[in-house]
Amino acid sequence: MSRRTEGGKEQSVRRRRGRLDDERPLTRRPESRRREVRVLYVACEGESTEPDYLQYLNEQFGDGDGRERQPFRIQPVYRKNGMTPSQVVEAARAAAAEDEAWAVFDRDRWDDIPQAVKMAAESQIELAFSHPSFDLWLLLHFQAFSGAQSGSSKNVVDKLRQTADAFRDYDKRGDKSIKGPRRDALKGLEHKAVARARSLIASCPQGECAPARAEPDRAGRDAQPLPSNRWAARSGHAPDCPILRRDPSTDVWRLLVALGIV
Ligand SMILES: [Zn+2]
Repeated sequence: MSRRTEGGKEQSVRRRRGRLDDERPLTRRPESRRREVRVLYVACEGESTEPDYLQYLNEQFGDGDGRERQPFRIQPVYRKNGMTPSQVVEAARAAAAEDEAWAVFDRDRWDDIPQAVKMAAESQIELAFSHPSFDLWLLLHFQAFSGAQSGSSKNVVDKLRQTADAFRDYDKRGDKSIKGPRRDALKGLEHKAVARARSLIASCPQGECAPARAEPDRAGRDAQPLPSNRWAARSGHAPDCPILRRDPSTDVWRLLVALGIV
């Protein structure tokens, strides 16, 4: 940045440490916006993997980077024994009120996805849908993946266990947590995961889907609601690409891009 004075340099060093309390605006408006903590409510289907992952995002990236990325705080919303996709959307709506809200859910065993998407579109709740499962998003940190899975997460989980040592026992004895070595294994691979998730859109069999069409940013909860097919097309899939045919795909990358992590 060009307007650095000696004092400015000090500021910049302080900010990189990521302590919100230490920050002082260099100039008034853009900087004060960057200091403000962006709060978002992210409701998820699972009770373990996704909340752990969201907590990891908070701890790893939530303080901002002192430059472009605004500090953020994700409030995970989940329930013991999980929720169906429409319950996820409803929980996001209830928890967030007028604030930013996201719904994270999977294809794997649910039938109420079109209804959940419709509810999300009506309430401007952002979607991070994965087909067949959130585990695909984890796997993409380590390797590319392709081929329709027809809703089964088995291949994805098998690959995840084989590819990443920290995930060797993932989903064994019910342990789908993302803690300790598993978190460490994900660190630094966000760009790769995002690039691989975006390339899945480009290879979507529907043909008209392209990552360049994606709208990763918030629409704003007070914007004019879109029909559900257009709302679900904000990931870069075409409006006429049915969400249940996006096999395999994951939109979790949109959350990372929206937060400025990638
Ligand atoms: Zn598509």
